[in-house]
Amino acid sequence: KEALINAGRMMKEAGAHALRGGAFKPRTSPYSFQGLGEEGLRILAEVSAATGLPTLTEVVEVGDVDVVAKHADAFQVGARNMQNFRLLQALGRQEKPILLKRGMSATVEDVLMSAEYIASEGNSRIILCERGIRTFEPGTRNTLDLSAVCQLKAKSHLPVVVDPSHGTGVRDYVLPMACAAVAAGADGVLVETHIRPAEALSDGAQSLFPAQFAALIERLRPFILAAGREA
Ligand code: PEP
Ligand code: MN
Repeated sequence: KEALINAGRMMKEAGAHALRGGAFKPRTSPYSFQGLGEEGLRILAEVSAATGLPTLTEVVEVGDVDVVAKHADAFQVGARNMQNFRLLQALGRQEKPILLKRGMSATVEDVLMSAEYIASEGNSRIILCERGIRTFEPGTRNTLDLSAVCQLKAKSHLPVVVDPSHGTGVRDYVLPMACAAVAAGADGVLVETHIRPAEALSDGAQSLFPAQFAALIERLRPFILAAGREA
């Protein structure tokens, strides 16, 4: 909790627009840390109140939609649930925005169809997220497909953001790929940060140190301006 409050304060100061934290974590291994559940949601809400940052958090099943809606400002659908159509439909009946992450083996068309499952139930507040796909390349956790940003923007009117943290899995690659994402036309980037990455219960290797997060925000500015957007 202290880690999140400190991280939240630091991010707010550095210029972050929203705070993303997982209370329900979809882990590849059932033995990995699964998140704190509702307690995690309460902590997230507290940090939001303390920092003024709106919150985004993942929902992994239909039965959790209401409790997440109670505590968070926006829902995240993770890569592993991008084609959980019942979950998408349930979120389509909610009012809060939804960040929809691309499945690791999903085509751009698949992403758009999943967004359609949400929109067709009435909720069109959808943000699409490129977070890397599975390829034969072992040097990164996933292969960040920045051409997907162009395709998604060409084929829909939805905002598109990029997650270079899961997209690369390597802390030092996050900044250059975040800059590249903005250059490619992304509407935002979503990066993982931790006060002490070595102690992170999830994804420490790709989490930025606080100073790196602040540096990223600064280094992004010229790319944002060059892309014709306001920084
Ligand atoms: C996450 O955002 O922490 C996450 C689990 O990402 P993804 O669903 O893209 O793997
Ligand atoms: Mn993660």
